Amino acid sequence: MSAYQGGCACGAIRYELKADPQFSFRCHCRQCQRIIGAGYASQFMVPRHRRRNQVL
Ligand SMILES: [Zn+2]
Repeated sequence: MSAYQGGCACGAIRYELKADPQFSFRCHCRQCQRIIGAGYASQFMVPRHRRRNQVL
């Protein structure tokens, strides 16, 4: 098991993952392109009970 920490670009949300991602993918849909401002968004899935979010 690994622990990962990260957050959003503006720093308002932090997260901590207490498990490795089950899978990851790159989404190229228009919605993700608008949100990220790039050609694709990198995403990964972790079980909810292994994740902790904190809104600052
Ligand atoms: Zn998408």
